[in-house]
Amino acid sequence: MVDSILPLKLLFLSTSVGPLGSGMGGGVELTLKNIAQALRDRNHMIAIVAPAGSVLEGFPVVEIPGRLQSTAQSEGREAWVAMPPESMLANMWEYARQVQADYDLILNFAYDWLPFYLTPFFHTPIAHLVSMGSLTDAIDQIIEPVVTNFPNTIALHSRAQAATFEFGDRCRVVGNGFDLSQYQFCAEPENMLAWVGRLAPEKGLEDAVAAAQATGIPLKIWGVLQDVPYWHDICDQYPDAPVTYEGFLSTAELQQELGKCRALLMTPRWVEAFGNVAIEALACGVPVIAYDRGGPAEIVQNGKTGWLVPPDRVKGLVDAIAKIDQIDRRACREQAERDYSLAAMGDRVEQWFAAILPRKVP
Ligand code: UDP
Repeated sequence: MVDSILPLKLLFLSTSVGPLGSGMGGGVELTLKNIAQALRDRNHMIAIVAPAGSVLEGFPVVEIPGRLQSTAQSEGREAWVAMPPESMLANMWEYARQVQADYDLILNFAYDWLPFYLTPFFHTPIAHLVSMGSLTDAIDQIIEPVVTNFPNTIALHSRAQAATFEFGDRCRVVGNGFDLSQYQFCAEPENMLAWVGRLAPEKGLEDAVAAAQATGIPLKIWGVLQDVPYWHDICDQYPDAPVTYEGFLSTAELQQELGKCRALLMTPRWVEAFGNVAIEALACGVPVIAYDRGGPAEIVQNGKTGWLVPPDRVKGLVDAIAKIDQIDRRACREQAERDYSLAAMGDRVEQWFAAILPRKVP
């Protein structure tokens, strides 16, 4: 615990691609919840601003109306910045502008142009937790001056994510942290594999399905069905693969099912900024078989808590599945406890905030 920062009044601004609890916001939803919990445990006061319809157990939410932002993952480097009419994102930041004097610090979770653009116009400092790697020139170009003019205010989840930005070495890497009491260790799995995430092209689900077909081991899929044509294409391509789509579950339900699996397959096509689901699997004692790129490559200890395999090669997945029983499931849980607890994350976030707000350090 860092005892060097006074209790803060913090205003969290969630992503505006989906309400909290919907899954549309991907890992950001759980990340926001975990950081809120970690900081409340340390006596900071937290208010959360999020899209109308948001549900966050244990925290009051200021719900903001408007139209959701579209997701930025697959629009290409040249993509323009787009704002819908009745923009919820704009409404959220207008609310923040009005109440900013009541807070010491605003924490932005949205990977959007507007909050970075607005940073110099606010009187209250804004910290940005960037949830994805570099995707478009427009976003890179709006983050860069914030990195330069507001030192210490940008944090990322992994070194691999930082490496995708030209200014990555000037950002702080805070990893992530989880309430591990929510995840039960399961020593004896059933003969099935897991894949967890948004069903969308950048997540590479088709390779996990191909691996299930090759091994004959059933694959259970959990997550928001974000791109329906993409999922139907996979079903058409692998009509006989032993896979089932199990829907989007709450954390409590998900960990119970995930824990029964022999391994989690992570097959991202992009540089995954972190990969919350890797830690959730490890916390249940489930080894992770991941492509050797992005956040998962920094999390998985090859041969100890899972296997890292050459990216985009189904054969690598199949070979790793064959030796999954070499991994001690207790070592997986131990890694989650050592590196990714809520307390460890609370320390890292407090240190980050102390760097932004030196006057709050007694
Ligand atoms: N998730 C969930 N229920 C499900 C499947 C997934 O709550 O049935 C959550 C999971 O806990 C994780 C998020 O969806 O926090 C996926 O985040 P990740 O960082 O793995 O990927 P992202 O979607 O951000 O690219």
